[in-house]
Amino acid sequence: MSRREFGCVIVGAGVAGVSAVAGMRAAGFEGSILMVGDEPQLPYRRPTVSKELFRGAKTPDQVRIKAESWYADNGVELRTGTRAIGVDLDGHAITLADGSSVGFGRLLLATGGRARNPWSGNRVRSLRDIADAEGLTTALDGVDHVLVVGAGLVGSEIAASLRSLDREVTLLEGAELPLPRLLPPDLAHRYVALHSARGTKLETGVEVTEVAEDADEVVVTAADGRRWAAGLVVVAIGMEPDLALADGLALAPTGGISVDWRGQTSVPGVFAAGDVASRPSSYVEEPFRAEHWQSAQNHGTAVGRAMAGEDVRFDEVPWSWSDQYGINLQVTGWPLGADQLVVRGELDGEAFTAFFLRDGVLRGAVTIGRPADVRAARLLVAQRARVSAALLADPSVGVNETVEA
Ligand SMILES: Cc1cc2nc3c(=O)[nH]c(=O)nc-3n(C[C@H](O)[C@H](O)[C@H](O)COP(=O)(O)OP(=O)(O)OC[C@H]3O[C@@H](n4cnc5c(N)ncnc54)[C@H](O)[C@@H]3O)c2cc1C
Repeated sequence: MSRREFGCVIVGAGVAGVSAVAGMRAAGFEGSILMVGDEPQLPYRRPTVSKELFRGAKTPDQVRIKAESWYADNGVELRTGTRAIGVDLDGHAITLADGSSVGFGRLLLATGGRARNPWSGNRVRSLRDIADAEGLTTALDGVDHVLVVGAGLVGSEIAASLRSLDREVTLLEGAELPLPRLLPPDLAHRYVALHSARGTKLETGVEVTEVAEDADEVVVTAADGRRWAAGLVVVAIGMEPDLALADGLALAPTGGISVDWRGQTSVPGVFAAGDVASRPSSYVEEPFRAEHWQSAQNHGTAVGRAMAGEDVRFDEVPWSWSDQYGINLQVTGWPLGADQLVVRGELDGEAFTAFFLRDGVLRGAVTIGRPADVRAARLLVAQRARVSAALLADPSVGVNETVEA
């Protein structure tokens, strides 16, 4: 079989892959592009999977990243429902699940990841994609009580969505507080109160060692012997980057495919972007792998530009959000690396912003109800601005007016 040749092949039809196309075309790349994605749908907004899609407030057609016509308009051959199963780095080709192979000039791995779930069973679910959401919705039929393992961003959102679907929810978290990788303790306490106010039973310090199901229920056992039984368990203990095609590429000690400032891997002409890529950052001590929508989007765009030959140095201040119980949380920068907390408003009030400083320099901010503060703070974090704590605490002073000379 003669193999088809493409100027660029993108594996993974998530936001990083789609944004890379936009970046390449904006930078003037005129070659042919093939994008393969193993999910059957057109690329969609994954964050809706634990929110609007799961609650039934939106359909898959309403959460597409781009209209169907966009791909042809941008000269992309999009093959959904198609998994790439091998890469020949020397021969510049990838193998698809049907056994065919296609050649590439440049390759982008934007394969994201899979939900981590060491347990299995019909009553044991996880949530990463539309198929998971549909399966979970079916499995919920006739189930009153659900256990959610993991109170990180996704687990907390699942708990909130389940409450809106009138299910009894017990949320089990290994750390002492929810959202342990996102929020410092002062703010995480706010989420303890929120879960409680909305009827989610939060249990912390729970190291789950066993999940076992029978015909009627599933039982979760913790290392200290505590047990919980319910009709269904949803495991939300993070994701694993999909490294199935990363043989021969350098990997980061922290997980993910190692890339440089332009998104290039250890092999020239082969790039990685989005959740699967471990990249340098001047805002975070380690090379890090972001697992956030906007980061995947902007990284994808930048790497696409680099693939088109532009001189790119992607070094963005992180920004992410979470919606739980109708409350929007926004986080920018690196709050966990700070030594001083300054609060504008009241932490237990309707609206507040918490600013995080290290040695007097603004490192990050978290807000509920004051998104403009986070937008302004993000610019100051990028400038490594030294700020006045007294002015930051004063809501009548604009965030950008708090910079010290
Ligand atoms: C339930 C959920 C809720 C979230 N909510 C938020 C939120 O509120 N805010 C926020 O900032 N972030 C959120 N995120 C994170 C955000 O969705 C991700 O950071 C983002 O989707 C990563 O984009 P990506 O393109 O790198 O990877 P992905 O979105 O994972 O896309 C990768 C695609 O590649 C496909 N693929 C993998 N391997 C192959 C292969 N070999 N062949 C073909 N296709 C392949 C995968 O199936 C997938 O479709 C959430 C994530 C989840 C799972």
